[in-house]
Amino acid sequence: MRNGRSSISVWNRLAALTITGCVASACAAQSEVDFLVAGDYVVTMEANQPAVKDGAVAVKDGMIVAVGARAELAAKYRAKETLAGKDRVLMPGLVNGHGHAAMTLLRGIADDRELMDWLTNYIFPTEVRFVDAEFVRIGTELACWEMIRGGTTTFVDMYYFPDAVAKAVESCGLRALVASSVINQKSPDAADAAEGLRAAAEFVQRWKGKNNRVIPIIGAHSVYTLKPEQLVQIRAKARELGVPVSIHISESRFEIEYSQKNFSTTPVKHLEALGFFEGPTIGAHLVWPTPDEIPLLAKRRVGAIHNPTSNMKISSGTAPVIQMLREGVPMGLGTDGAATNNDLDLWEEIRLAAFLQKVSTMDPQALPAPTALRMATSGGAEAIGLGAEIGSLTVGRRADLIQVSLADLHFTPLYDVISHLVYVADEQDVVSVIVDGKLLMRDRKVLSVDEQRVRREAAALAAKIRAAVLEKKPSP
Ligand SMILES: [Zn+2]
Repeated sequence: MRNGRSSISVWNRLAALTITGCVASACAAQSEVDFLVAGDYVVTMEANQPAVKDGAVAVKDGMIVAVGARAELAAKYRAKETLAGKDRVLMPGLVNGHGHAAMTLLRGIADDRELMDWLTNYIFPTEVRFVDAEFVRIGTELACWEMIRGGTTTFVDMYYFPDAVAKAVESCGLRALVASSVINQKSPDAADAAEGLRAAAEFVQRWKGKNNRVIPIIGAHSVYTLKPEQLVQIRAKARELGVPVSIHISESRFEIEYSQKNFSTTPVKHLEALGFFEGPTIGAHLVWPTPDEIPLLAKRRVGAIHNPTSNMKISSGTAPVIQMLREGVPMGLGTDGAATNNDLDLWEEIRLAAFLQKVSTMDPQALPAPTALRMATSGGAEAIGLGAEIGSLTVGRRADLIQVSLADLHFTPLYDVISHLVYVADEQDVVSVIVDGKLLMRDRKVLSVDEQRVRREAAALAAKIRAAVLEKKPSP
């Protein structure tokens, strides 16, 4: 906010949405809501709306029913629970558009390696040996705890034993698109792609419409682990079931070379020729699309998920984020799995997304702070197909919102709240998390995951992995 005038006009507009037929003070009875959540600053992430002071959001039956000035909402609504807003920013929850939640259990197992060495010598063999439904349950719960703590309210997951993922999401209260992965090799839950696709279809049928927070989808690993006809079959099945497909696209130079050698074209053009984009697609990474592929991705409305930490850590490259945004590709951010990150802190992705574009273009104006924040909220929601339901503090949307504390001295002084959210905030600064109208964290205490139990279970499983995998390998 630069001057008082702009915030007043914004609040007048917001107040008009919340007051129907009577002036708040003259209303005979207050209507009851589940929550009144306030903030010294409210960042709605609605287009062109600046951060505004001393606001609040009213939540009822899982939905945002009012957004406006705190005093007016407090007069109009009687809340079962109020979350005070002093020294807090109220904003939409973050959207993590790509990850492999249960890989938290493989965090730190093999660092500082390039993608194919990391995958084929460490990850795939460990997964085949250790990943079962119990591993996935524990690893996903660990991830859910970390995501709730850090203010992520929606994530897109792509892993094995999706029923275990879905149950963990159901119990921890987050919102997620849960992909049942299809890969044409022996995996922890299928012998090959045919079996994987059969299982994925059954998973989607089991979970579709069961819980509005758990959205079952299909995951296609990549063009280098699936034959062309298998990619075609995956899209056909997804269309039949009415679900999106999540897929790694143009992540590494290896993938580009593999595609050129085997299909005489790039991964994006290969997928286009197969008709793969004829249905909602969440494309993870997209580090190496060529300039002529970017308008095609925009035309096909492929949601591109940028994973800056993972791309930097395994030297995949720098995605052309600015060009994709300029051409209108829907763009979100992701952490990728905790084995290539190694945490699930989306604030770090927001910051690194901005920095990576600035350093690679040698232009400090590249990917400015509001654009980076948009990718983690409303932009990310749009990229994963939930743009009409979540991603901004808007009346009628699902109530997925967080409070970020400004009390830590690292926020002092405060000239520009968006600058601080992008360039200062970390997961530890998040103090409250509400998803679908349910409080999942209060005053930094995660309420929906048993932290001590998960810590114990993860440590026990990690001890077995260490004995079997790490203690047998000579260190590099
Ligand atoms: Zn991935």
